[in-house]
Amino acid sequence: MIIVLKVGTQEAEIQQVVDAVRKFDYEPRLIRGVERTVIACVGDERMHHTLESLIVLPQVESVTPVQKKFKLVSREYQPSDTVIDVAGCRLGGGTFHVVAGPCSVETREQTLETARLVKAAGATLFRGGAFKPRTSPYDFQGLGREGLALLRAAREETGLPLVTEVMSPQDVDMVAEVADVLQIGTRNSQNVPLLAACAASGKPILLKRGMAGLVDEWLLAAEYICVHGNNKVILCERGIRTFEHATRNTLDVGAVAVAKKESHLPVFVDPSHAAGRFDMVIPLARAAVAAGADGLLVEVHPDPAAALSDGGQQLKPKQFAQLMAELAPLVQVMGKRLAGGTTPG
Ligand code: PEP
Ligand code: MN
Repeated sequence: MIIVLKVGTQEAEIQQVVDAVRKFDYEPRLIRGVERTVIACVGDERMHHTLESLIVLPQVESVTPVQKKFKLVSREYQPSDTVIDVAGCRLGGGTFHVVAGPCSVETREQTLETARLVKAAGATLFRGGAFKPRTSPYDFQGLGREGLALLRAAREETGLPLVTEVMSPQDVDMVAEVADVLQIGTRNSQNVPLLAACAASGKPILLKRGMAGLVDEWLLAAEYICVHGNNKVILCERGIRTFEHATRNTLDVGAVAVAKKESHLPVFVDPSHAAGRFDMVIPLARAAVAAGADGLLVEVHPDPAAALSDGGQQLKPKQFAQLMAELAPLVQVMGKRLAGGTTPG
């Protein structure tokens, strides 16, 4: 932390700040300028008490942190990419994976048909929501436990590992029995008890960014999971709230690049919730690849017009196949390998 004192601060008042800094277990180093005194406080800001409260002293002009608040998720801590093994799929570290499936698990036929078709097109993991965090209580809330059974049937038939959302700490054990990856949704991105309960399951966790969350807050949410002993975290950018309504959310491509630079964790992009409309999913998916993403989470439905949730943004089977075909050369240009797809010659 750097503490800047006000112009004209007297020696006794300087000493008062120095004593306060020592009390917090930092070592104060004084820099006496022509007009002002600056105190550089040496210590690990993540482990010590914050000095930010010293701003209330009348002689203090500013208190500025110099360290990032996250540690375990940072590239400083681990320079090489984390690779997460999900039932043989290695996420991160140069291989690009596509997770695809319906927004909601609706019926046995819809679930199995979607799993088959996304696998045939090259998806390597299957997604589907059994517990749905809907904005309105009058909207379809998901099939719950029954939906988990349908997801299990889809994995038994196709062999695709499952990604599905868990919304409450009490449900973590039940969902983790079926899921290969637990999804934490945008609305729960900073739900600390849920982050801790998911971490304790030991399962890989796909952590969506909060719809109004800063990149730092997203990385700190991931840090919570790591602090609870689970470093298998996949970050997922899914669009943020902005003034723009041409798309449902605004895909923050810059955040993908920043997260890749700041963190060693795999970074996925969900172009479906970012776009909110099927015709923008493929363009946003291209942007995600170019920004350095390690994979995509895409909503696909055999008949989007009949979908019980997010019908307007789900890709039809043919559109999904087109996306997969387009991805192959782009992923290669970015120096990655498309898992499940063919590498163009
Ligand atoms: C979902 O993936 O279906 C979902 C609800 O996503 P988000 O939390 O990003 O809205
Ligand atoms: Mn959805």
